[in-house]
Amino acid sequence: MIENNFKINRLNLNETVNLYGWINKIRKMGDIIFLDLRGSNGIVQIVLEKNHLDYEKVLNFKNNDIISISGKVFERKNKNKNIFSGDIEIIANKINLISAVSNQLPILPFEEITALEQVRMRYRYLDLRRPNIFNIFKIRSEFNKYTRRFFDENNFLEIETPYLTKRTYGGASELIVTSKNHLGKEYALAQSPQIYKQLLMYSGFERYYQIARCFRDEDSRSDRQLEFTQLDLEMSFINDKEIEEKIYLLIELYFEFILKNVFKKEILLPFKRITYKYALENYGSDKPDLRYENKIFDLIKNNLIKLKDKKIAKGIAFEKNISISQIKKIKKDFKDNSINFSYFFVKDGIYSEGEIKEEFKKDINKFNNFLNLSNYFVIFLISEDKNKLLNTLGEIRIKVAKKLNLANKDKLKFCWITDFPLFDKDKENNLVSSHNPFVALKDESDLEKINLKKENELLNLMSRSYDLVLNGYEIAGGSIRIRDKEIQRKIFKILKLTNEEIDRNFDWLLTAQSFATPYHGGIALGIDRILAILLKKSSIKEVIAFPKTSQGTDELSGAPSEKN
Ligand code: ASP
Repeated sequence: MIENNFKINRLNLNETVNLYGWINKIRKMGDIIFLDLRGSNGIVQIVLEKNHLDYEKVLNFKNNDIISISGKVFERKNKNKNIFSGDIEIIANKINLISAVSNQLPILPFEEITALEQVRMRYRYLDLRRPNIFNIFKIRSEFNKYTRRFFDENNFLEIETPYLTKRTYGGASELIVTSKNHLGKEYALAQSPQIYKQLLMYSGFERYYQIARCFRDEDSRSDRQLEFTQLDLEMSFINDKEIEEKIYLLIELYFEFILKNVFKKEILLPFKRITYKYALENYGSDKPDLRYENKIFDLIKNNLIKLKDKKIAKGIAFEKNISISQIKKIKKDFKDNSINFSYFFVKDGIYSEGEIKEEFKKDINKFNNFLNLSNYFVIFLISEDKNKLLNTLGEIRIKVAKKLNLANKDKLKFCWITDFPLFDKDKENNLVSSHNPFVALKDESDLEKINLKKENELLNLMSRSYDLVLNGYEIAGGSIRIRDKEIQRKIFKILKLTNEEIDRNFDWLLTAQSFATPYHGGIALGIDRILAILLKKSSIKEVIAFPKTSQGTDELSGAPSEKN
């Protein structure tokens, strides 16, 4: 039972209720004072008549003061259909001021957001008073409740792992913590519970999960914060066969359960699956938004144009129209001298305008036939670098879709991305793990067959990792793990760690692996991101009670502060 329950309606007629809340609006009409009282779960009208003992005192109350009232529920003459308690009003008996506002509020709690982000963050507790925002956190709480219910029903144990951990090699950079008892030494805040959850499997827990905070010293973006929340889990298995299938099924059932219970939505299972290679070739991204199709196509392989040199040509077509000036803007944004950017519009099967070489114009019929369209526009790029072409087209695909409003906000398009390579190259051209160094290989014997010194052979190794994508966002990632300490050591060595570095950083994991380890794998889901998508919010900040700004600062408390 909620002690301060504003969910009052005709069923409560003639009852006496006790409430406290904020004055949303106070007004005097004739001799009567009307007060809209706002609590966390609604608004109720309070009435005070002229003969009330406190009448003069109440006239001095202001909007946003906190008061308590006790009174009787009556039917209202002028009903307000927009609020739950719009059929009733409360004739006040006792009325007391609990706390008066002494300052003008910088954010009005019942208005749409007009304040700047910094002001909202500085007075976040006022921002949080707005009923729309209250609702977000009610849903977030339900989300956690049903998450726990689901994993409990599936025999998972909720186990907490440390936040203060040892600094490790690789991955995103770590946030450092010092302690007065260990001068000259430092802890790192956990980037994820990864190693600990593997150790829990070695302990025999079989099914672990946790709603864990993770810390990464990365630039904050609309879908990233220094600290964020993961639903983290790990499972052990009887054999090595089809572990991926079991994890996919569990997560699909979890989403079905959460969407049904928290969001009252049905989804179709199973989720679509595409390989990493297919995603890149067709959507120019490993997290494609599948709410719209618009696949990338190869102009040479499909005989749409001919090139004299060995360059590659890839394009993308849209049926809805865009203005020339919008395309020009997109072209300007992707100005890269190594890429040739062309586009053209076709109306009723005939070239209408664009920027393409004369010699290609005679081929328009081929495009009509290939696309099976007669009104459309095509953007195509020519370059020698296939990956650059695909990535650029992937970005263009998203930009154009945004301008054309192709992504239906009510659609949920889940998709597993599978068959990731084990290694990748970072921006500085170093060989790095695509996911993390603990990911198992598709075929462990490959490590015997290839020349470990040849980077191109290493880049061909395939991993047992997977991502889950929703509407163009990566919402989860996981893998089957390496269990064998010799293989784990080999992977570290490929990543250019010396024996000394391996021992210093990972001896605790390798030692644990020498005491026998079961087959195991898991996944971590980004809860903030998932909620932002399901609640149709443009940034994860909207679903975090006290988020950091885009610069990573906490405007409310002033963190980070100067060193003492
Ligand atoms: N620990 C990984 C991450 O945070 C997820 C996993 O592999 O389970 O990305």
